[in-house]
Amino acid sequence: MRIARGATGRVLIVFLCIVLLPLTAVSAGDDRSKERLAMVTVQIVARGVKDPVTLAAMREVPRHRFVPLVQAASAYDDRPLPIGHGQTISQPFIVAYMTETIQPGPGKKILEIGTGSGYQAAILAAAGAEVYSIEIIPALADSATQRLRELGYTTVMTKAADGYYGWAEHGPFDAIIVTAATEFVPPPLIEQLKDGGLMIVPVGSPFFMQTLMLVQKTGETTTSTSLMPVRFVPFQRAE
Ligand code: SAH
Repeated sequence: MRIARGATGRVLIVFLCIVLLPLTAVSAGDDRSKERLAMVTVQIVARGVKDPVTLAAMREVPRHRFVPLVQAASAYDDRPLPIGHGQTISQPFIVAYMTETIQPGPGKKILEIGTGSGYQAAILAAAGAEVYSIEIIPALADSATQRLRELGYTTVMTKAADGYYGWAEHGPFDAIIVTAATEFVPPPLIEQLKDGGLMIVPVGSPFFMQTLMLVQKTGETTTSTSLMPVRFVPFQRAE
């Protein structure tokens, strides 16, 4: 009996080692917070982003969960990455810079045009905002919606549509962020911006460098400021 029990015990220990240890290793391997903290220090703080809300969101959101598996190893690199369908997730610095510029926070309602992977939307949600995000490619809209749900970003609403028209039912918005390059700012987006609202949008030819513009609306007046040269994927139009 004793021997039998000892054998059972050994079997149990072997089972625990073989089955449970690798499982812990997998979940520990998914915690890439060290890489994320380094990304924020080296790529974002060093380049001048200071807003604590933005920095906290960038430290928290697991960027590697927003890129295709084949890109996971490069998720924290200092560059944009392909996400399929010819689209890209922006470089971490650009995401942080755009986030800081539109000042997200609790109680803010933000419209994003170009959900892509859902990463920028998750950053805005982690900064406390209520986010409405539109994506023109249905397959990307579906996968981002599922990913955001799985990761628990319950304050992001998504839809598959041409973002040119904005999302009037939920407007006006405190801020609008456009993550595809447009030759001009779509008038419906300006209309859906609150008085005092901020819009950040890459403006210029889709085939060259564009200029990241900050559009501010005050009453009937809008003013635009050039921020920096950038390169984004083109803003598409539904046929
Ligand atoms: N913000 C994204 C980056 C997306 S790249 C992220 O964090 O991953 C730009 C996205 O804009 C692409 O997915 C592209 O399909 C989408 N897009 C281009 N034109 C659009 C339009 N008119 N309306 C909505 N989405 C558009």
